[in-house]
Amino acid sequence: MRTAPTILHLDMDAFFASAEQASKPSLRGKAVIVGGLGPRGVVATASYEARVFGVHSAMPMAQARRLAPNAACLVPRFAFYRSISEQVMGLLRSLSPLVEPLSLDEAFVDLEAGGAAGDADSARLVGEGLRADILAVTGLTGSVGLAACKMLAKIASEQAKPDGLVLIEPGTERSLLEPMPVRTLPGVGPATGDHLRRAGIHTVGEIAEAGEGELVRLLGKAHGQALHAMALAHDERPVVAEREAKSVSVEDTYDVDIHDRLRVGLEVRRLADRCVRRLRASGLSGRTIVLKVRRYDFSTLTRSETLRGPTDDPAVVREAAARLLESVDTTGGVRLLGVGVTGLADYTQEDLFAQAAGARAESLAEEPAEEPDEEQAAPAERRWPSGHDVRHAEHGHGWVQGSGVGRVTVRFETPLSEPGRVRTFRVDDPDLEPADPLPLVRRRQNGAEGAEGAACAVGGVDPAL
Ligand SMILES: [Mg+2]
Repeated sequence: MRTAPTILHLDMDAFFASAEQASKPSLRGKAVIVGGLGPRGVVATASYEARVFGVHSAMPMAQARRLAPNAACLVPRFAFYRSISEQVMGLLRSLSPLVEPLSLDEAFVDLEAGGAAGDADSARLVGEGLRADILAVTGLTGSVGLAACKMLAKIASEQAKPDGLVLIEPGTERSLLEPMPVRTLPGVGPATGDHLRRAGIHTVGEIAEAGEGELVRLLGKAHGQALHAMALAHDERPVVAEREAKSVSVEDTYDVDIHDRLRVGLEVRRLADRCVRRLRASGLSGRTIVLKVRRYDFSTLTRSETLRGPTDDPAVVREAAARLLESVDTTGGVRLLGVGVTGLADYTQEDLFAQAAGARAESLAEEPAEEPDEEQAAPAERRWPSGHDVRHAEHGHGWVQGSGVGRVTVRFETPLSEPGRVRTFRVDDPDLEPADPLPLVRRRQNGAEGAEGAACAVGGVDPAL
């Protein structure tokens, strides 16, 4: 293991909820819950104000609403979060070629590999500089952990939350870990935690004390050995740079299981089109078409078909997905469908598929990027998802605070405005239309300052807005 705390772990604070609060002045300092609002919805992120009530990620939304009845419950805006994430990841990549993203808002960075830091003092300076840059570029806060290994860097960022930095000095690792609960260690979930507790092992120190033999006896060879090593602060896992995306896939979970075979076929067709749009947007093509089906009883099947060469033709992907669907029994009902393309290449051998594309020559460009089918005759909640941006011809930019019974309530405010006023419209008001998110920070005049990520506008938004 290295001797300097030059592995950095960044974790944005309550990322989705903070992004929503930054974009909606009236929600700052308030309980905000971002997640699925349907009957099977779960919490993706809760703001710190909502966590006070016991709301946390992965909790069923219905339970979260009971705990925090006054919280604003918002439908996630992943494209918006992804655009912020790209700015953050850009800042990390300016520090080192070794950046390992774990999710949209979390990553390891090897500062030594980038030559950004070689000892504790320089690592701390880099970490504080990074936090300042993230705030300046995105308007959001992130917490930084620094340590000599990944496990401890992640523990440190957890301790640093929110809006802080914790550096674990090499040599202090064992004494720091000893009193911590076993669940602190990576790979100890609720089941393993219970198992250890029944054996009288509650803390990391007690794992170390129990010895490798006892851990292997309790948890099996691989898991036992790994856990014992972690308890001794031995973690040699390297930071692995982000690999190229090897597949593109889309999937949908349905609020109510789909039984109608025809409808299943239509959904697969729609997913195939969406997958191809995403593929084309990345300038990619792929050879293997994958269909994923989760049935009513949670059994999940995947079927795949490999073509003679890569394609990004919607007709080809659609036909392959339809063929794959033929081999799947869906009689009990379907709760999730997905279509993916793997074996990606950055070129397309159109000629191989000339006959499949044939006279249809369908234009994907004519279709809006988001779920056109669902919007037809969709209830107001679908057409105007809570939290999404809108623009009114007279009142300007705002966001949907709620909708139902033919009405939609909009709060008119922007990231840089004061908290705004609320107005209610008919859901079919011709003056009201969906809008793109606005940037969270005023664009700086001096583009040379900070990292290149600073130059990105949020999600294709006109920077002049
Ligand atoms: Mg986070």
